[in-house]
Amino acid sequence: MMTQPEVLDAFARVVGAQNVLTGDLASSYEVDWTGRYCGTSTAVIRPATTAEVAAVVTICREHSLPIVPQGGNTGMVGGGVPLHGEVVLSLQRMTSIDEVDPVAMQVSAQAGVTIESLQLAAEAAGLRYGVDFGGRGTATLGGTIATNAGGLNVLRHGMTRDQVVGIEAVLGTGDIVRSMSGLIKDNTGYHLPSLFVGSEGTLGIVTGARMRLVASPSHRVAALIALPSIDAAVHATATLRTHLEGLEAAELMLDDGVQLVSREFGVLSPFARTYPVYLLVEVAASNDPLDEVGNVVESLPEVLDVAVAADGHRRAALWRLRDDHTTAINRVGVPQKFDVTVPHIALAGFVTKVRSQITALHPEATTWIFGHVGDGNLHVNVTGAQGDRGLSDTIYGLVIDLGGSISAEHGIGTSKAKYLAMQKSSEELTVMRALKQVLDPDNIMNPHVLFSREVQSGTA
Ligand SMILES: Cc1cc2nc3c(=O)[nH]c(=O)nc-3n(C[C@H](O)[C@H](O)[C@H](O)COP(=O)(O)OP(=O)(O)OC[C@H]3O[C@@H](n4cnc5c(N)ncnc54)[C@H](O)[C@@H]3O)c2cc1C
Repeated sequence: MMTQPEVLDAFARVVGAQNVLTGDLASSYEVDWTGRYCGTSTAVIRPATTAEVAAVVTICREHSLPIVPQGGNTGMVGGGVPLHGEVVLSLQRMTSIDEVDPVAMQVSAQAGVTIESLQLAAEAAGLRYGVDFGGRGTATLGGTIATNAGGLNVLRHGMTRDQVVGIEAVLGTGDIVRSMSGLIKDNTGYHLPSLFVGSEGTLGIVTGARMRLVASPSHRVAALIALPSIDAAVHATATLRTHLEGLEAAELMLDDGVQLVSREFGVLSPFARTYPVYLLVEVAASNDPLDEVGNVVESLPEVLDVAVAADGHRRAALWRLRDDHTTAINRVGVPQKFDVTVPHIALAGFVTKVRSQITALHPEATTWIFGHVGDGNLHVNVTGAQGDRGLSDTIYGLVIDLGGSISAEHGIGTSKAKYLAMQKSSEELTVMRALKQVLDPDNIMNPHVLFSREVQSGTA
């Protein structure tokens, strides 16, 4: 068995000494962006190629060193930072993007490219990447695949899962699997790329992927619709979905969140006064949808006010109100985050109940709620709460009672691992554990993520 300096030397022989970081150089990789999850690592290793990733995993396997894969470190559930002294394997140097294939409407890229870079590459080819969200400038392709990120356009284009047509990955065994043909029709057994979507680094490291691109309509219209209640927003969204074929996004914001963003970032609401609830929608089409959007919005009952933006500058100003929610809340304090889905019809009732339950448990806390109302997905953020004191159990219990999901799009990470059994049956967990056992027999891949220790050893 090698000593720690010898292991670090072995890593350095693979990736170069400048890409083996320890001490202060490693510290920014050891804490998540919210400041909620912080640990220390054995070292941060920054490979540049898939072969280097495989060599690093092989060394880790030989020396029983657990690995935390890390992309942009924008994750929300403590899955990408070393909370138990793991090796951090950062994909930051793997940022190449192949030429877009305009015939197949696909592009291959290394896992460390940011979503924004992928979007720009697609745009340069007259196409569009179907996933978008506020963390686009830092979140990576590999991280979004590992968490099956959703975001703003799920209504129209689906989750990251729906964009993946090929994957290259290094398993926990150190073996490389590559399925990058991009064939949409290929019914030759298990679809291995799908396995890695939502696997949160527990099966292996995604080193590259081939992604579907979509058409990029020439016209876009955004509308901020002020409404009296969440229920009105849910019903307005249903009407908009029915009548606007090009509806790409339907986002819910509440008055307190919009005021916070205005205060923190100086982003102004287009309205002269405040309203209880805002629905931000965007429609994309090849013919100008401005009139169509105007007509449908006019037909909605209960609309209190509306601001429509057709040019890029004004649309961006409306979107900042939504995009900046996450970072504005983080400025108030380190938030406890609950990313949940409930059936559309239960959304309004959920908000009322969850607010009162949080206040009952934590009168000292502030609750911020916003989300992707078109997908039934709400982000409940709680700032100023002293400890958990039953908060997670209560919120997840409510979600399960309503037939929802305890993780809509951020994943399970370390923070929700002990709640996974609330969502998955023991049969499902058995299959998941069996898959992990095959692809990562020594349990070195993100061993504290997804499965809690009890679940992993089969005692829960
Ligand atoms: C402002 C802001 C807005 C956001 N909005 C949304 C949103 O609307 N929707 C949404 O879904 N998320 C959102 N997020 C959360 C976050 O951006 C996503 O979870 C994203 O997918 C994480 O990507 P990352 O590259 O930062 O991954 P990381 O945070 O580095 O890692 C996340 C998880 O993936 C694993 N992982 C990372 N890279 C790899 C790899 N190459 N192979 C295997 N496993 C890997 C890690 O081990 C970890 O478990 C937002 C974040 C911010 C900061």
